[in-house]
Formats: sequence, structure tokens, C-alpha cells
Amino acid sequence: MNVFTLVRSINCCCLLLAALAATGCATNPVTRKTELAFVSEQQEISMGAKQYLHSQQSAGGKFVLDPALAAYVNAVGQKLVKVSDRPQLPFEFVIINDTVPNAWALPGGKLAVNRGLLTELKSEAELAAVLAHEIVHAAARHGASAVERGTLLSAGAAVISVLTADNRAADLIDVATQGGAMLLNFRFSREHELEADRYGLDYMVRAGYDPQAAVELQETFVRLAGGKQPNWLEGMFASHPPSQERVDANRAKAAGMPAGLFRGEEVYRQKLALLTKIRPAYAAHDEGRKLLEKQPAQALAQADQALELEPREAMFHALRGDALKKLGRDAEAEREYDAAIKRNDAYYAYYLNRGLVRQRLGNQGGAQSDLEHANKLLPTAAAHYQLGKLAQGAGNSAKAIGHYKLAAGADSDLGRRAGAALLRLDLLRNPGNYVQVEAVADGKGNLGLRVGNRSPLSLTRLRVTGVVPAAGFQREYEVAGMLKPGQSTVVPMGVRLADFNVGLGQVRGQVRSAEPVE
Ligand SMILES: [Zn+2]
Repeated sequence: MNVFTLVRSINCCCLLLAALAATGCATNPVTRKTELAFVSEQQEISMGAKQYLHSQQSAGGKFVLDPALAAYVNAVGQKLVKVSDRPQLPFEFVIINDTVPNAWALPGGKLAVNRGLLTELKSEAELAAVLAHEIVHAAARHGASAVERGTLLSAGAAVISVLTADNRAADLIDVATQGGAMLLNFRFSREHELEADRYGLDYMVRAGYDPQAAVELQETFVRLAGGKQPNWLEGMFASHPPSQERVDANRAKAAGMPAGLFRGEEVYRQKLALLTKIRPAYAAHDEGRKLLEKQPAQALAQADQALELEPREAMFHALRGDALKKLGRDAEAEREYDAAIKRNDAYYAYYLNRGLVRQRLGNQGGAQSDLEHANKLLPTAAAHYQLGKLAQGAGNSAKAIGHYKLAAGADSDLGRRAGAALLRLDLLRNPGNYVQVEAVADGKGNLGLRVGNRSPLSLTRLRVTGVVPAAGFQREYEVAGMLKPGQSTVVPMGVRLADFNVGLGQVRGQVRSAEPVE
């Protein structure tokens, strides 16, 4: 069940549940407070599990270059899970390949931390502070409770428009994807943030970490938030707003906790060694990504620089591919996407862009399989739109309409183009929905057909039929020229009402075909 259906069914049941309040009450597993809870543990788990892949993909995909680092983050996370209030949840921790510092938790214990946050941390204890905080969000049912209160849905609507405006994540349209985006960009309430801090400190101490690390990290966040650095503002600080109130609360609580626990500065430095070393490569890449739209040649140079520093990163090959594609060097671009997929075969954008390039190169079969694969990882309007064009080219209108309909759901230029393609296809199949034909007679009883264009497109090659069923009359007529939207014209039928001895009401007209002007 995705968040939308969940929220919808909850809204429907709300009154019923209020009446039977006792059934919906439960003790919160972390705070031990009694609260209304009608999202079951099973639902929490399935919500998170269903959104996890799409959430990872839309956030930038998994960071796969350093499996040892991924294993380390997971190990620190699992250490905290063991001492948490819900060790039975299927917790998972992944690193997202994105420079923006951020971390997020889906219901049921599906967590992620961005590469860009890891490089900002100074010790294992700081990492533990971030993960413990996210673990509390999942363990204390913060996501589930937001769904129960209906706040997740409204918060999500705003997030989706931001997401579709963003270049990299543009045109994400699938409902499941939107749900995932909602969850990972969701901003918890101030109360839940304080709770995640408070119980996170408990988990840290139980796992043997120095709680002062959390206090100091929070202080750093407050300082950075004052500096208004865009990366932080769009990431960590958007999802977890730092505040002096949080620092003070953490400091007060940590003061009563054991001192001298593990900090792990040295081990953290070692584990981060590769990432620290290649950080400039990612900086070059990120700069190139910004230049891509307007200065693709410079973006290409940035990609080359990044690859010189770290030739194994798929993302750098993909930037090279994107720049070459932009420069119209499609064959070379395809080879770069091949290289990217060889290094990381689990990120949608590499398949999506290779599919687009293959389509331009005339490799329809290769394009189709790439676009379909991209959609399995993360459905996008871009892939659905192109799949619609491929299906249309192959004469499969029904399949094309299916893809266009999905693409048209995106609030973007591409969504509107898909809507127009959909309209053209439907117009060809069902012209009667767009063209009105009615019989008219002039003062002398000469019959004609008034043909009106009710579609938003200019139409040409209109063929209409005039029928007098009572007289067994039927004739086809062609409308000369073009009809603009809203325009109508009268086509003479070449017969008179008197020829049939019937009333005008017994003369009918219908459209047989029409074509939109390209
Ligand atoms: Zn938080």
C-alpha cells in the first residue's frame, strides 16, 4: 500500500475509528506514551520497503565505489539498532551518492545517509549521532504518526513540485515515487525532532558512544545554518532544522550521562580515507553538472577532470555522456553510458539517458529495453514519453496511450508534450470526441453539414459523412483546408431536404477522420 492509498483509507475510517477509539490506541514503543495508532507495524514495514528503492533512486542512487565504507555505516547502524526500542524492525542503512549533506528515515527502518554528510562528520560517534537520531524517527513511529495525522500528505504535495522542478530528479511521476519523495523530504515536527535527539542520545550511550558528539554536531549545524550554505539548506537543514533549542536540550540531557565513552575519530578518518581523497573529484563533477545546461563543453572538461582523479566512478562517466549528448556527439555519449553502467548497473539515469541517445541513433530496440529498465528502477515522465513515441512509431496506439497518460501526469514541459501527444493520438482514434457535425438547411432547403473544431489543435483532412437513415442515404465529404480551434464551416451536401421528404431532425452528420496540423 502506498502512502496515498493509506492516507485515503485512513481518512475514510477516521470517523469510525474515533467512535471506536479504544481499538486505535497503543503505547509508543519509544516514548511509552499512549497514542492513537492505526498504522500497524506490518503497514509501517511495507510502506518503507515499497518506497526504499525509489527513494534511493530519486535521491541520487547508492554510493557503490567503496563497499567497505557502506559495510561500516551499516555496522554502526546495526549496533545502535540492537540497543534501540525496536530491534525487531528490518533496519537497513545505505549511502546515497550525493554531495548534499542529508540523512533520512522511512517508516519501518529503511534509512539512508548521503555521501556529502559523511565527509562533514569527524568521528564514528558523530556518525552514530546522525544514525541514532534517524533510528528514533523510525522506531518512535514518527513517519507513521505523520500519516495518521494527515500531515504527511499535505507536506508531500509541496515537496513533489520542488522535486519535479529540480533538473536531476525532474519528471518523476509515478505515484509510488511521489510517495517516496514525500517520505524522504518530509520535515518532522519540532516535537519529533526533539524526541529523535533525546532518545538518540540514549541509544548512543547504550551502544557505548560519547553523547557529547551529538551535542557538538548539533552546535556545528546551528553555526552552518547561520552561514546559509545552499547545500546544507536544501538537504539536512530542510529535513532536520537545527535550532538553539535542540542544542540546549541535548546539552542538558548529555550533562547527566556517562562521560569518556567512545568517539572513534581515528577509525572514522581511516574508513573515510578514500572518500576524503576523492572529494575534489566530486566537487569537479558537481561544478560540471551545474554548467551542463548552458556550457556543455565546460561540463565535459569538468567530467574529464573528475575522471582523472577517480576513473572508477560511474557518475563521472555519466556526466561525460550527458555533456556529449548535449553537444550532439551521440555515439560517444552512448559509449560513456556503457562505461557508467559497467561500473554501476543499478541507477536509473544511466539507462534513461543511454535509451534517449540510442533512440536518436536509430537503435529502437536498444532504446526500448533501456527505457523500460530505467522505469523499473524509477519511473519517469521522460522514459514514459519516449516509450510512448516508440510504441506509436511501431503502430501500437494502445500502448503509446498508456505511456503518454503516465507521462502527462508530470507537471513539466515534458508532461505537457505528453498530453499533446495523447490528444493527437486520441483525436486520430476518436475524432468524434473533438469534432462536432450537425445538419443544417438554408432558406431554400439546401442541406449542409456544419463542422466545428472543439479541440485545442488546428485540424486538417477532415472527412465527414451525411446520413439520412430513413431514405437509405449516406455520402462522404471532405472539408477543404484547415479548421482552427473553435472554428466551424458548412460543407454543402449537394442534396435538398425536399429530396427525402423528411424533417431536418432526421438528417445526421458524423466525422470519420481528422488530423491535427503538425
Ligand atoms: Zn530528524
